[in-house]
Amino acid sequence: MKITQFFMDASLPQDDEIEYLIQRVGLTPELVTDSQPVYDVINSATDPITAAKSILYITRNKGAVIRKCPGTSHYTCCDYTILHTGTFCTMDCSYCILQAYFHPPVLQYFAGYDTFIPPLKDVFAQNKIYRIGTGEYTDSLIWEKISQGPQFLVETFAKQSNSLLELKTKTINVDSLLDLDHNGKTVLAWSVNTPAIIRSEEKGTAALTARLETAKICEAKGYKLAFHFDPLIIYEGCEDDYKQVIHSIFSHVSPDNIVWISIGTFRFMPLLKSIVEKRFPSSTIPYGEFILGLDNKMRYFKPLRIHLYKTLIDTIREYAPHVRLYFCMEDEEVWEKCMGFFPKKEGELGHLLDKSAAAHCKLNTSFL
Ligand code: SF4
Repeated sequence: MKITQFFMDASLPQDDEIEYLIQRVGLTPELVTDSQPVYDVINSATDPITAAKSILYITRNKGAVIRKCPGTSHYTCCDYTILHTGTFCTMDCSYCILQAYFHPPVLQYFAGYDTFIPPLKDVFAQNKIYRIGTGEYTDSLIWEKISQGPQFLVETFAKQSNSLLELKTKTINVDSLLDLDHNGKTVLAWSVNTPAIIRSEEKGTAALTARLETAKICEAKGYKLAFHFDPLIIYEGCEDDYKQVIHSIFSHVSPDNIVWISIGTFRFMPLLKSIVEKRFPSSTIPYGEFILGLDNKMRYFKPLRIHLYKTLIDTIREYAPHVRLYFCMEDEEVWEKCMGFFPKKEGELGHLLDKSAAAHCKLNTSFL
C-alpha cells in the first residue's frame, strides 16, 4: 500500500483501532466531516482512477454493512452475502470492474468494529447457513497491511456456527492471521490466473507461485481454502497455461482442504472497454470475440467459453474429483454442457455451496 494522501472522518473516536491504523499508514490524517473533500481531490486528478489508488479515506460504513450479492436474474447466482468492509483497491488489474463501478472510485476503509458487531450478531442468530465475503468491492487482504480488521473478522467468525467467512485476495498478506484461533470458520481464497495474465494484466498483485506458497502455509495452519479462476482470459496457448496453473495448485495444496473452486470467463460492462484502452494501452483483453449478454455485459462467444471451461473442469477433476466447482454467472446450456447438470431451482446452487461450506467448516448441518 503506497498512500500519498490520507483523509479520516473527524467523527471517528481516537481509540486503539484508529491509533493502529494511523501508525500503520505512517501519515497524519487530514480530518474531514464528509467525503466531499476526498471526492474533490480525486476528481481533480488527470487520471482519477490511478490517483484514487493512493488516496486513503478512513470512515465508517454509513450504509448497509451486510447485503445480498446482487447477482443477476439472467444467470445462475450463488446466493452469496457481502460484508462491506471497504471499497476499491491498491492493486491495478486492467480488467477490474471497480474502475467503472464507483464515481469516483475511493479507497475507503470502514473502521469501527461496533458498526459490524450488531449486524453480524443478527446473522449468527439465524437458523440458516451463510457464506459471507468481503472481497466484492475491494480485495479482502490489502487491508491486512494497515488494519486489524481481517484479524477481528476471523476471530469473530470463530465463535459462531452458521456462517463461513471468505477472505478473497491476490495478495500474500496473511501474517496477522496465521496464528489465530480461527476454528475452521474462515476460508482463505485466492483468485488465480496464468503467469502471463498476471504479468500483463494484474499490476501490483502477487505472483502465482507466491499466492500458492501462501495458500500452502495457511493450509498448514488449518485454514480451509478456495480458488477462483476468474476472469479466464482467452489467448493463444491459454489452455495449456491454465492446465499448468491447475497442476501448480494441486502440487501445493490438498484437494481435501478446498471448499470450492469457481470458474468464470472475462465479462465486462461496455464502459470498461474505453477505460482499459486509455489506462492500459498495451492490453489486448478488450479485443476478443465478445457478444452482449442478457445482463448487458460483454462476454466471449458461448462456444469459446464452453471449450475453455471443459478443458479446465476435466483437468481439475483429474486431481480433485470431488471438489465443488461452480460457475459465476453462467446459463443453463453452459452448465449442462460443462458440468453435466444445471442448478435450475431457485437457491439450488446456493444450497450446494452451503453443503460444501458446512462440511468443510463444521457449520451446523441442521440448518441445511
Ligand atoms: S485485485 Fe481485484 S479489486 Fe484489486 S484491482 Fe485487481 S480485480 Fe480489482
